[in-house]
Parts: sequence; C-alpha cells; structure tokens
Amino acid sequence: MIHDLVRYQFDDKSFMKRETVLLVSLGCSWGRCAFCDYQEDKSSSVLKCDSVNKKVLELVKGKEIGSEVLDITCSASYTELPFTTMNYIRDTCSCKGISTVILEGHYIFRESNSFYIDFFEQRGIKTIFRCGIETFDEHLREDILRKGLPGAKPEEISKYFSWINLMYGMEGQTFDQLQKDFEIGLKFFDRINLSIYTSVKEGPARDKAKIKAFYDSPLYQDLLDSKRVDIFDEWDDDNDHNVGHDI
Ligand code: SF4
Repeated sequence: MIHDLVRYQFDDKSFMKRETVLLVSLGCSWGRCAFCDYQEDKSSSVLKCDSVNKKVLELVKGKEIGSEVLDITCSASYTELPFTTMNYIRDTCSCKGISTVILEGHYIFRESNSFYIDFFEQRGIKTIFRCGIETFDEHLREDILRKGLPGAKPEEISKYFSWINLMYGMEGQTFDQLQKDFEIGLKFFDRINLSIYTSVKEGPARDKAKIKAFYDSPLYQDLLDSKRVDIFDEWDDDNDHNVGHDI
C-alpha cells in the first residue's frame, strides 16, 4: 500500500547540502529488520510506483537552489525500485544539474553496485552507495535487529559502500558501543547518518534516558561539528536539538 508521506526534503543544514526523495519501491525482499515499520510503503505495480515517483522527482530543483546532490531513499533497497523509475532519476539528474546521486540499499545487493555506477556514469553522474549497518555490535545487529549481514567486517562493507547508517537509542544499546561505532565508522567510511531510534510495534523499546545522555554528551557536540556526520531524530518534534528529521 502506498502511504501518504513527506516525499521530498531539501537538507540545507548538512555540510553536504542535498535534496532527498522518498520513492515507492516494489517491496523489500529482506523485510526482517526488527526496527522497520516503513516497508509497507510499496506497490507490486510498476505503473503505480512510477506514477508516484515521477511526481516526486518533479519536485527536485537541483542547481536552481544550489544543490547538486540527490539522495534517493525508499522503503527497500535501490535495486527494488522499478528500472523505469531509475531512468526518471537519471533524467532528473541530467535536467537539474545534479552531479551526484546517493543510493541506499541492503548489503545483500552489493554486487549490483557496479551496474548502477555504469548506468549513471553514462550521463557523467557520480554514484555514492549507502548501507544500513545500525551498529558494529554483531550480537545486537544480527540477533536482535535481524539486519542480515552476519559476519560482514567494516573493511569488507567499505569495498562496496562509502556511506553508512547507524542507529542509537534502543534498549540494550550502550553509549560505549555508540562511541565504538563512530570510531569504526569514521575509520572505514566517508560519511555517517545517525538515526535516533524511534520505537516500533513489536520492536525494541526506545531508551529515552540514553538518548538524553547522548544529547548531553561531548560526543554529540563533536558530531555536530563533524563534516562527515548527519543526525536525524524523527521524534525531536520541537527540533530542540536542531538536527535533521527522518522522512
Ligand atoms: S532492509 Fe530496510 S526496508 Fe528492508 S526490512 Fe530492513 S530496514 Fe526495512
């Protein structure tokens, strides 16, 4: 079912200004992550996906607003967008002066990346790949979050993906692990998106005390100054922390 969601944002607070679109996919074939409540935003109809995606992509302004980067998100992996949509994305980039496209996907699709690099390179567009890792704590990531990349080492992941997503603020996570996740993440990857955890039905609980401690910590202040980190907090409704919002 295609949901009524905010599908276009321009993030001009980030050190890497970018327009972000949330497109409709054919569905996530992994579909097991414990924290994921957004995978129902999908359609098995290529036509329905394309008709929504085309309208969303028409909102992209590119150079007109000083943005040359387009961040593509969906309720699955970029490989699960119809290929017709991928053509719209490439056309939009060409028309709007977008020089870099960011594609987000699951590690299981890593061998597909070279195909997408070639596809966008044909129009002189650079591709950046981002992977959801959430944490480098193997037990939490695989046994609790069911993320689906068991045994994958950061050096191996970084051969395919130069950006990663981390997540913090669920029961069972520790501040020490978050610090380790950033140490590892910044060593092996160019850029990190940190999402502050939003609890979902039947998923781990949100640990408000740990989230507050994070916001009060010197680590948070350091991350705010980092040109390689963006923080997203969907539940920061009043934007008290002035961090980006997930879409
Ligand atoms: S891979 Fe992404 S869309 Fe699929 S279940 Fe996990 S978080 Fe949800």
